[in-house]
Amino acid sequence: MAKQPIITVNNLVKNYGDFNAVKDISFEVYEGEIFGLLGPNGAGKTTTLEIIETLRDKTSGQIIVDGFDVDKDPDNIKKRIGVQLQAAGYYPNLNLSELIELFSGLYGINKTPMEMLAKVALTDKAKAKYKELSGGQKQRFSIATTLINDPRIIFLDEPTTGLDPQARRNLWDLIREIRDSGTTVVITTHYMDEAEILCDRVAFVDGGRIIDIDTPDNFIDKLVASGFERKKEVKLANLEDVFINLTGKEWREG
Ligand code: ATP
Repeated sequence: MAKQPIITVNNLVKNYGDFNAVKDISFEVYEGEIFGLLGPNGAGKTTTLEIIETLRDKTSGQIIVDGFDVDKDPDNIKKRIGVQLQAAGYYPNLNLSELIELFSGLYGINKTPMEMLAKVALTDKAKAKYKELSGGQKQRFSIATTLINDPRIIFLDEPTTGLDPQARRNLWDLIREIRDSGTTVVITTHYMDEAEILCDRVAFVDGGRIIDIDTPDNFIDKLVASGFERKKEVKLANLEDVFINLTGKEWREG
């Protein structure tokens, strides 16, 4: 089946004053994929995502999200996407259950908190405050909030930064489940192992330009075909495998 673009970015440019942060980039995200934006700090990933999310103005270019133009129909785009809030958005006096109720109310959607918390294995924390959660639980909760409006696409900006290996793997499983249930996922990450395992396709961004877009497998095959070889012989396991093997793979609350 031909892949359908759910996001189309054409000739996107973003200037901050004299500084040209995004330099005429074009790409498509296909419906139902996990699409990764990879690149060093300052490459322009967050700027690009925030423009697609209708949270930031562009300088020029055209963006279509699920058939709607960011210039003409930002409200329809907002209804169809899920974006992670910064931690500051979680009112400190409300517990997780109350926060979900609040967000559901803002969307005008009747979702029960337990239904949303169950999706991210946090029902036992329904009465906890956000600040009382571990790093992995915070990320899972914030992903739950992106799903309240049954979005067509969710955007995750570095969702596993600072998490331990188990919490990262749990989050990868969760992100795959979200993709498998039909939601397109756009993610940024600085972890190449994560992108290789999780992303269906990745775009490398550097200095405000897209260098190349392909599947992780194709990128690696192309590099190997060009004669590249790792200097050191690769071991059959790495230290992360040792960590997981010694400390277990189950959901952890620590
Ligand atoms: P990171 O991986 O560190 O999150 P990024 O790829 O997301 O980086 P952006 O946050 O999009 O990069 O920033 C791209 C460039 O634009 C950087 O040089 C940054 O300093 C600059 N920039 C971002 N926001 C603003 C702003 N509001 N005003 C001026 N310059 C900005």
